[in-house]
Amino acid sequence: MTASLERTGHCLCGAVRFTATLNKPEVGACHCAMCRRWASAPFMAIDCADLSFEDEDHVRRFRSSDWAERGFCDRCGSALFYHIIGGDNYQMAAGLLDDQTGLAFTHQVFIDKKPDHYAFAQETSNLTEAQIYDMYAPPGTEPIPDETK
Ligand SMILES: [Zn+2]
Ligand SMILES: [Zn+2]
Repeated sequence: MTASLERTGHCLCGAVRFTATLNKPEVGACHCAMCRRWASAPFMAIDCADLSFEDEDHVRRFRSSDWAERGFCDRCGSALFYHIIGGDNYQMAAGLLDDQTGLAFTHQVFIDKKPDHYAFAQETSNLTEAQIYDMYAPPGTEPIPDETK
């Protein structure tokens, strides 16, 4: 039986509840300096469409760069999502999902920014910052400052 791609989730305090459709049952990790400062860890996320919040009263959006925003709960501080401005899809925090069965950890980005104190054992496809920028960033985009190295 194939697990459903429509999943519900909620933040730590329960003030933010949502339903989203996973584009694939695949989890990715971002090791960039912003994600690590935001989450104290790589941001583990799932590409989702058709995101709907039960209500958005406690959803706050922080514009973390010219092209993206990050959502969080203003009551408990849970990281909710990373979202490219104008895009349809949301990178939802994998840890928010109520049902985390049937997921595979498949990819890591900004792998060259991963600090030395952790590493995942799984074999995944990995992209460096330069590879990400070549594929997605507008020409002239500055690398993310990383003062943590
Ligand atoms: Zn909350
Ligand atoms: Zn990141």
